[in-house]
Amino acid sequence: MANEAALSLYLHVPFCSLKCSYCDFNSYAKLDDLVPEFVDALCTELALWAPIVQGRPVATVFFGGGTPSLLPLPHIERIMATLREHYTLADDPEITLEANPGTADRDYFAGIGAAGVNRLSIGFQSLHDKELVALDRIHSAAEAVQCYRWARDAGFRRVNLDLIYGLPGQPMASWQENVERALELAPEHISAYALTVEDGTRLAYDVEHGTVPPPDGDLQAEMYEWAGRRLSKAGYQHYEISNWSRPSEECRHNLVYWRNEEWLALGPGAHSHWGGHRFADVYSPKQYVRLVAETAEAPPTPEAAPDAVLAAMRQVTFVDPQPAALQMADTAILALRLNAGLDLGAFEGRFGRRFEDVYAEVLAETLALGLLEREDGRLRLTDRGRYLANEVFVRLLPE
Ligand code: SF4
Repeated sequence: MANEAALSLYLHVPFCSLKCSYCDFNSYAKLDDLVPEFVDALCTELALWAPIVQGRPVATVFFGGGTPSLLPLPHIERIMATLREHYTLADDPEITLEANPGTADRDYFAGIGAAGVNRLSIGFQSLHDKELVALDRIHSAAEAVQCYRWARDAGFRRVNLDLIYGLPGQPMASWQENVERALELAPEHISAYALTVEDGTRLAYDVEHGTVPPPDGDLQAEMYEWAGRRLSKAGYQHYEISNWSRPSEECRHNLVYWRNEEWLALGPGAHSHWGGHRFADVYSPKQYVRLVAETAEAPPTPEAAPDAVLAAMRQVTFVDPQPAALQMADTAILALRLNAGLDLGAFEGRFGRRFEDVYAEVLAETLALGLLEREDGRLRLTDRGRYLANEVFVRLLPE
């Protein structure tokens, strides 16, 4: 029987104006010359996948990056037209685009809104200029606020603001001010992430050479706790470890990841979950362009088994096998990130095995440690468990 379940699409735009000091995403500065070829390849990849997932309505689309708002409007219009030509959009689809202040104005937002984008995620990170400079962000705090106002002026009703806490030398008061100023803008959604030092970034180099202090984990925990209380007081629901929203304003696209459902991710380095596999496109944008063109010369047969489809997709260069033990662990770990937690009945329905049997020892231990709690057929992280979530997650992973 044909699969008619809704599908989600992630589209990775790998371009940035400047590489931020902390960023280890697959994004590149000074690669603007490749934009037209990249957009051609992305549209080709969309067309290549369409017959394989035919009949599945697309419920959410997420333009992530990188900095998708660096793509000139005609390119966004072309990608949206390709989507409409080859896919059926579900009723009321959620179509999000990540935008960075300094790369988009009111006209741009009006244009992408007219093209069908209906949700924005704006990378604020901080509302202090000194902190933005330290992060190598290209914009000031005033420009970030202006960008938000332009989004509203252009008619965007659903907006997320991204914030980062625990920056080197950032006092609690500065973080609190960032949150207060973000709240004054009344976005529908706020994401707050602790700064982490990722290998290969300029931040890692600076920390290693002692020119920047490493993040203070205890202070980050206090900042997180304070933000949780403040955002909840302001009427935001803490629905995922790092995400808060107004009621019914959760990011539907990201919920697909946390529910371990299926999505296709297109573009350099984008990671998919489809057909019982996790896989990723080649990281290099130039190779991506070349390999998508090769696939277009000998496209996969739409009826082929997932393994054969992936083998024919030349741009897919990394396929991770998904044995049942890993699928169960992924499902549990991702669900526990959500406040709704893991539905034990749904777990059994999906895998034919009771969570309590598969993870008897882990369950006993984490309940005893006060990291998990069980209520109404669901398993959730406790408040303490949220700060120590990785302690729970590593125990769930297969050996
Ligand atoms: S704008 Fe975003 S993706 Fe680009 S370098 Fe900065 S953090 Fe990374």
